[in-house]
Amino acid sequence: MRTRVVNCPRCGAQVEWSSASPWRPFCSQRCKVIDLGAWATERYRVPVEEEPEDPESAPPGAIPEQ
Ligand SMILES: [Zn+2]
Repeated sequence: MRTRVVNCPRCGAQVEWSSASPWRPFCSQRCKVIDLGAWATERYRVPVEEEPEDPESAPPGAIPEQ
């Protein structure tokens, strides 16, 4: 009986496609969490970057006259 082997989408490690690899197609829980986490983080990060956290760094109407 041959065992099918796939590559982890996250790090490229070879993963045995069997019950011995509960995180398949990822090689480990870490790779699975990182992959899903990076995906979710990017979605949440975009709107945060649009909003400056320090309002004093750029007060409205502070454009210097020439
Ligand atoms: Zn991996």
